[in-house]
Amino acid sequence: MNKIGILTSGGDAPGMNAAIRSVVRVALDLGIEVYGIREGYQGMVEGGEMIREMTWESVGGILQRGGTMIGTARCQEFKTREGRRKAAKNLVNHGIDGLIIIGGDGSLTGASIFRTEWPELIKGLTKSGEIPAESAEKYPNLVIVGLPGSIDNDMFGTEMTIGADTALHRITEAIDAITSTASSHQRSFVVEVMGKNCGYLAMMGALAAGADWVFIPEVPPDPDAWKKEMCEALGAGRKAGRRDSIVVVAEGACDKKGNPITSQDIKETLEEKLGEDTRITILGHVQRGGSPSAFDRNLGTILGHAAVHELRKTKPEDEPQLIGMRGNRVVSSSLMECVKITQQISSLASENQFGKVLELRGSGFQSAYKILQTLFQPGPKLVKKSDKPFRIAVMHSGGPAPGMNTVVRAAVRWGSDQGHTMLGIYNGFPGLIKGDLKELSWMDVSGWVGQGGAEIGTNRAVPSEGDYYSIARTIEEGRIDGLLVVGGESGYDSVYEMFGRQKEFPTFRLPIVCLPATIDNDRPGSELNIGADTALNSIIQAVDKIKQSAVASRRCFVVETMGGYCGYLTLMGGLATGAERVYIHEEGISLQDLQNDVDLLVTGFSQGKRLGLMIRNERAHPVYTTDFMVRLFEVEGQELFDVRQAILGHQQQGGNPTPFDRIQGTRMAVQSIDFIINEIGAKDPRNVFIGLEGGKIKFTGMEDYTRLEDWDYGRPKVQWWMDLRPIARVLAQSGPQQL
Ligand code: ADP
Repeated sequence: MNKIGILTSGGDAPGMNAAIRSVVRVALDLGIEVYGIREGYQGMVEGGEMIREMTWESVGGILQRGGTMIGTARCQEFKTREGRRKAAKNLVNHGIDGLIIIGGDGSLTGASIFRTEWPELIKGLTKSGEIPAESAEKYPNLVIVGLPGSIDNDMFGTEMTIGADTALHRITEAIDAITSTASSHQRSFVVEVMGKNCGYLAMMGALAAGADWVFIPEVPPDPDAWKKEMCEALGAGRKAGRRDSIVVVAEGACDKKGNPITSQDIKETLEEKLGEDTRITILGHVQRGGSPSAFDRNLGTILGHAAVHELRKTKPEDEPQLIGMRGNRVVSSSLMECVKITQQISSLASENQFGKVLELRGSGFQSAYKILQTLFQPGPKLVKKSDKPFRIAVMHSGGPAPGMNTVVRAAVRWGSDQGHTMLGIYNGFPGLIKGDLKELSWMDVSGWVGQGGAEIGTNRAVPSEGDYYSIARTIEEGRIDGLLVVGGESGYDSVYEMFGRQKEFPTFRLPIVCLPATIDNDRPGSELNIGADTALNSIIQAVDKIKQSAVASRRCFVVETMGGYCGYLTLMGGLATGAERVYIHEEGISLQDLQNDVDLLVTGFSQGKRLGLMIRNERAHPVYTTDFMVRLFEVEGQELFDVRQAILGHQQQGGNPTPFDRIQGTRMAVQSIDFIINEIGAKDPRNVFIGLEGGKIKFTGMEDYTRLEDWDYGRPKVQWWMDLRPIARVLAQSGPQQL
């Protein structure tokens, strides 16, 4: 294979550009020519200028742009055989016999039909003399690979589609903004989000933004009861002191009989039955727009890279594949099988078979819905209080991580809902030592879902020898039955110490869960830590601006990120901003590396390069510091280019948590509380750390901490993301006049 085409089709989605950039550069790196087909299948049918060769530079500077640089369209003609015949002719004329298609199930169906028909189309075209006879021999088959691009996250075969995370960002930002005005006026708002057959955006948006009621197509309510149920719940919320009422509705929501539930219906109901001043906000195309999130940039990049490799190894007789992501790993599955199941789900929905739809959406979707149902109650359910309700404490330890408040809110509500008393320990271990604790009620944590910082305070201090006695006393006097420690290294280390001192202090025999919340993403037992996604998004926003500031001059930036000894933020930040060089402690920096980098910079800038971007972890090297590197590049760059440093600093720890951090924080909090409740009273209650691995939540025993933790550098011994380094290297290397 030496010439391939790439097209984006169907609805546009943020992150498509990252995928295009990745496909083009990875292919060029392998010596494959790439043609960009404009406006989806329309360009393939029209041919000519609509199919253009792409270069390394032509995909420079697009990572941070929303939409798709090669355009997308819906094309009726491609649905006809005649249209596809024209398309085949145009591809043959360009010598293209491999295609990467980014789109939804419609687009991928079209691709599959086209591939099946190809040999016949070619035969027909040679017969009529429209293409030379030897083409039939030269292009007997078309190979295709599909990438899921859609904001709706409605594609089977991948956990996330390209664009869904960014859409959730837009939705969450909008609901956060609406919540603040709604609570000022004690108003009700109905927020309508996209999703005709798929309630993913509505549900996750509601979960992330702490909405008070939700309607999704998968869970249609009873036609005679939904108005009463909603009004009772929202009315009770008001009585409990809630200042805002936010109802999220998916555009395709309906009741059990299939009657649509529109935002207007909801507004009228709230006004009529509750006398609430109610406003409607239809988010519409805002959800599609804007700069892609860090996750979508990296998802597009990683999937694009995999698609080229898949295409190269596909033989004509192989089934075409859809490349997706599951649990941070690239997965490939039969394209047609994925399309078939996706379409089955749509038709089940249109036949009102919602039970089956919900089942096919998977357990993650179902449990998120269940969590949402509990968290947006106006207060704890009136359960028969267990004879002896447990007392479960929550605390932080470590630096601030966005999402800490989200976790505490979910933990407090989930525990209270089961009749237990929830306690907050203030300011980390010093608070536990002093006995600084307070009961937290349902309404105490109201509004915490999206607040950055840590309302109950956090602290990096770890207990010293004499402090364990005081901790034991706090646990005893506070009658603490179980403990959730939300934070980073200091939390894990301290709990490990307590775990080892159970003989000395029998009070320490209580269930303890450590929940990873640190922007550094350096806790073992979890591929992702709460706060890291927010920090990564802060980094890319800052770097995007830095890149823009440099366009007018020839300048090289050395950007320093946080992360302790863990290079996660640096590598993922570099991948998402198109940095040409990433320096991390895991790899180290040698003098020879710096010499090579200087050479590359000098050659690049002397050939007309305008911007250099190097990203360095704060502890990448003790001697070759950021300052050292800046001075080195400056001296060597002489008249050719300027060098500036940008130390991003504490903005990385601040800001409101991203939807991902809120959703995962909530899920982990709920499971941690369930774990603690289960373990209380056990003969040997377990101490564990919770985490996300392979897309699933799991618990690891504290006894495994030493095995997994690299004690010298406070990071896991094995880090999954290190496998992504080659992708970053390919994309940034050689000839980048632009990043
Ligand atoms: P999506 O890919 O987002 O599901 P559509 O369903 O609108 O979006 O499909 C986008 C385009 O893909 C259509 O306009 C058409 O060009 C092509 N397409 C969709 N379905 C088919 C089909 N059954 N046969 C051929 N082409 C199709």
